[in-house]
Amino acid sequence: MKAAVVGTGYVGLVTGVVLARLGHQVTCIDKDPEKVAKLAGGIPTIHEEGLGPMLSACIDEGRLTFTTAYDEGCPQADVVFIAVGTPEDSEGKANLTFVRAAAESIGDVISGRTVVVTKSTVPPGTNRKVKQWVADKAPAGTDIAVVSNPEFLRQGSAVYDTFHADRLIIGAEDIRAGDLVEKLFAPLEVPVLRTDLESAELIKYASNTFLAMKISFINEMAQIADRIGADVTKVAKGMGMDRRISPDFLKAGIGYGGSCFPKDTKALTRIAEEAGYEFTYGKATDHVNDQQKNLLVEKALFRFGSLKDMNITLLGLSFKPGTDDMREAPSLSIIESLMEEGANVTVYDPVAAEKAAPLLPETVVTANDLKESLDGSDSVFLVTEWDEFKQMDLSMIASLCSQNILFDERNVFTEEDVKSAGIEYHSVGRRSVY
Ligand code: NAD
Repeated sequence: MKAAVVGTGYVGLVTGVVLARLGHQVTCIDKDPEKVAKLAGGIPTIHEEGLGPMLSACIDEGRLTFTTAYDEGCPQADVVFIAVGTPEDSEGKANLTFVRAAAESIGDVISGRTVVVTKSTVPPGTNRKVKQWVADKAPAGTDIAVVSNPEFLRQGSAVYDTFHADRLIIGAEDIRAGDLVEKLFAPLEVPVLRTDLESAELIKYASNTFLAMKISFINEMAQIADRIGADVTKVAKGMGMDRRISPDFLKAGIGYGGSCFPKDTKALTRIAEEAGYEFTYGKATDHVNDQQKNLLVEKALFRFGSLKDMNITLLGLSFKPGTDDMREAPSLSIIESLMEEGANVTVYDPVAAEKAAPLLPETVVTANDLKESLDGSDSVFLVTEWDEFKQMDLSMIASLCSQNILFDERNVFTEEDVKSAGIEYHSVGRRSVY
């Protein structure tokens, strides 16, 4: 089949590449000419395992092209995907400006029957608006069908997740359009759930908010564990052994970040509010996440009295390992808090340093490698659990840092690990080791 994908960010690019890999003819459209030029040359614009080789192969085999021109992809396509961003607006709602612009640009260039599929995360009711926005620009009589097909990939394993998705949600009133989308993805052999438009739209927000809620829940258990001397990792393990609960998303730490959980939790709270309902879980999930970000800075303040003029190393910048995405990365608020307390901050991230550079205060020093980042440090904060940090020889901290103290924001190490390395250790919801 022929598909066009509007927006070549994390979702659009991975969708486009995977569809091309499945044998479809795909045109990816983005308004950013620099991005398009890079991608057309086979250079991935995001860090995702397995994406680079697949991108080049699909381009070489002639099944994947990139353009800024809607008329080069949409009129010919059986299916047009919208995968542009829906960032948080100043009121915590989803900003639909990009979706509307994409829908109108699609309307500008189509004429025959067109199936428009929204992959972007959008509030219930938006797909009906998309249909109207496209129709407003298209010639009279154009047959437009909309399908809600929310995306569930995780950054860091986006390609794998697309090939091995748990489910494909297809929300459609137009049965033929829903069938077409199901057929497009059929080679993936993923379980499909067909729904109405609003349910599909809500499934996405409900899923993300539920996962965020699990993280905030275990973070509250960590707060309780800290106060009563329990170990939150053991609590999570014991809870997760119950199949009704499952061990996933029960890792205490500094809370969630990234471009989805924070904005989607807030947006669902606003969607409920506008529908006349107070969504207490949404509000609580968000509140706990905010408070969690500063937990270890507070522990450090308690430990040292003041952080003024201390040399502090931050290991990891991206919001999670496996990606260079810095959107809503907790590292940024930790750096801000440390600097407010007067600390000198050195950072090191094996992948995200380039994307992070424009976001860091000028006085932050970016080290080129782990060793350089630890040299002369008074205390180390492990923020993103990259393999390089999980596998590091902890005795490096004792040998290179001037004080051998580790604040582990992700509960990566065990008491035995740090005891044998002879370092002082503070983590989340577990007893400190001196
Ligand atoms: P992104 O910001 O990485 O990419 C969006 C792309 O759209 C950019 O390249 C931008 O240049 C392009 N764009 C914006 N307006 C355009 C227009 N009018 N015409 C053409 N191109 C345009 O976004 P993302 O992270 O891929 O997210 C896209 C959507 O998918 C969002 O709604 C998000 O909530 C949702 N989502 C994201 C993830 C994720 O892990 N990132 C997972 C599931 C769902």
